[in-house]
Amino acid sequence: MKHSYLKNVTTLAYDIEKCEGCGLCAEVCPHGVFEVKGKRARIVDRDSCMECGACVMNCPAEAIAVNAGTGCAAAIILSWFTGKEPSCGCGDVECC
Ligand code: SF4
Ligand code: SF4
Repeated sequence: MKHSYLKNVTTLAYDIEKCEGCGLCAEVCPHGVFEVKGKRARIVDRDSCMECGACVMNCPAEAIAVNAGTGCAAAIILSWFTGKEPSCGCGDVECC
């Protein structure tokens, strides 16, 4: 199943200069946001990032940063578990 979120809202940040090419980010990301080619990772599907933080926790080079568990992505994930309508608390009904 392919999930996508609002465009250009993820807080995902990546510094390619720090990348060591270990491939862990691509391995742990549930949505295929990263791909490793050659000796560096690159972001191939940024808008699919759900800000789970798995890549950040596994990157040995501290090349990735994300505000995990915030905003619409977190609200959508929570709604999957609770079965309730997503609400990120921003007050915009169309937001999530
Ligand atoms: S986990 Fe970090 S060091 Fe490893 S490939 Fe990904 S960005 Fe590069
Ligand atoms: S935060 Fe989660 S979804 Fe986003 S790129 Fe990292 S592992 Fe993938």
